[in-house]
Amino acid sequence: MTASVDGSLCTGCTLCADIAPDVFEMGDDGLAHAKAEEVPAAAEASAKEAADSCPVSAIKLG
Ligand code: SF4
Repeated sequence: MTASVDGSLCTGCTLCADIAPDVFEMGDDGLAHAKAEEVPAAAEASAKEAADSCPVSAIKLG
């Protein structure tokens, strides 16, 4: 599974980094970023939960 954040949508609410800290981190720009394009297998469930929880649907999973 891959993960990415659409920076044009992200509001910087930090929810995804709280839910899936192994997948998402907050950047110096105040927006969330995927820590790596490929999601570790053990973090796939939390990545999906973060994507479902994002209030602006900025997280894309592939
Ligand atoms: S949950 Fe969505 S809006 Fe909030 S920081 Fe993550 S990507 Fe951005």
